[in-house]
Amino acid sequence: MSDVTVKTRFAPSPTGALHIGNLRTALFNALLARGHGGRFVLRIEDTDRERCSPEATQALMGNLRWLGLDWDEGPEAGGPAPPYHQYERSAIYDAYYARLEAEGYAYPCFCSERELEMARRAQRAAGQPPRYPGTCARLSAEEVARKRAEGLQPALRFRVPPGEEIRFHDRVHGEQRFRTDDLGDFIIRRADGTAAYLFTNAVDDALMGITDVLRGDDHLTNTPRQLLILRALGLPAPRYGHMGLITGDDGAPLSKRNGSRSVDDLEEAGYLPEAILNYLARVGHTYDTDAPLDLDGLAQGFDPARISPSPSRFDPDHLRHWQDEAVQAATAERLRLWLAMDALVPPGYVEELINAVRGNIRFPADGREWAKRVFGPPPALDADAEAAIEGAGAAFFETAVAVAEEGYNRFRGLTEALRERTGVKGKRLFMPLRAALTGRCSGPELQPVVDLMGGERVKARLHRAAALAAERSAQEG
Ligand code: GLU
Repeated sequence: MSDVTVKTRFAPSPTGALHIGNLRTALFNALLARGHGGRFVLRIEDTDRERCSPEATQALMGNLRWLGLDWDEGPEAGGPAPPYHQYERSAIYDAYYARLEAEGYAYPCFCSERELEMARRAQRAAGQPPRYPGTCARLSAEEVARKRAEGLQPALRFRVPPGEEIRFHDRVHGEQRFRTDDLGDFIIRRADGTAAYLFTNAVDDALMGITDVLRGDDHLTNTPRQLLILRALGLPAPRYGHMGLITGDDGAPLSKRNGSRSVDDLEEAGYLPEAILNYLARVGHTYDTDAPLDLDGLAQGFDPARISPSPSRFDPDHLRHWQDEAVQAATAERLRLWLAMDALVPPGYVEELINAVRGNIRFPADGREWAKRVFGPPPALDADAEAAIEGAGAAFFETAVAVAEEGYNRFRGLTEALRERTGVKGKRLFMPLRAALTGRCSGPELQPVVDLMGGERVKARLHRAAALAAERSAQEG
């Protein structure tokens, strides 16, 4: 379905590393656009120059690209409504501020933080919700001029019309109603001249032609204020959907303290982009299938009506599940690039090794570990492996060495000859062999691994096991 009338955006304020919660917001918006053949915009909300940094912006863009969430319009991509960094848009905002002020929708406010705090305290003491008491709402032109002449820098406040009800349909939470009398006049430009989020965010959504906004439901109460700004300016409002937040294992909003991970952390730990995307697309959103999907598949099954209004817990086990799914679904070539273990494997054997051990790989370190176990010197034996070798006994391994030396050193020949000569079969045959050859009692199917190992390595490992078993029985005897 192509519907270019759908335009979504991700509008981060890059104050630090991109974390899972914001990434999910980016993903849902990207999926909504992609599923409709629409456009996905990246807008950097960096009016707060002290907290936002160019480095964080660059890192965030790198993260999105690594995940395949490229944007159609935005920094470095261009588009019809530049610039896409809000700190470069002040001339645009100034024109709208002037209009709001000229038309009486906004007024300069000279209240100091101290005065505001005192008003809030008095309201709380009287059992009322704290909201701007309207001190500067009716200043005369002369009073304003006098205060300015004194050198006072005003903030600009939006004048909320009294006695109205603002209604909108939220795609996740359903019908919403807010009484303007509960809102209080709010700041749209700070006294230091910087533009406030509520204002820039709403104005830019309109100027950039955003049709759909999906964001965390911590923004739900901002929406009536933003609708008032847009109405005053005669600008169109997008459709909104506010999704339940992601919480940590303690049920509190996800933060570094209760388990949130940055995209950088996940990349460094070895997570595949497709694992992260398949997991996050299912946090607070349901799909009909449990199969791993690519971005197009995720986009096709994405539906704002399936977003949960309640919070969802971040579950590292689920993330690991999707990692395993992604590894199993990846092509050998994809895994070869990801595992970067060519140097540990004889030329020409990488793909075979990957297919032999892929069921035992979760992260690149696991792949490298198996590469060393198969192609390196005889691997260290863990305690279970030693016990299995000891239990099978010296005679078993001496026979195994003899069989291998006779040239039966591929899996089938070796195990058949060994079974015939020792009478041992089943688990009692395979477990000691596995232990001797791989150093562990669990792991991938043995046959391909042994055949990749090759005769000389098989013999060396069997010799070592025979020596160990002999040594142990001598100690006991
Ligand atoms: N810059 C805002 C934030 O990061 C954007 C919120 C929104 O999506 O409207 O919270």
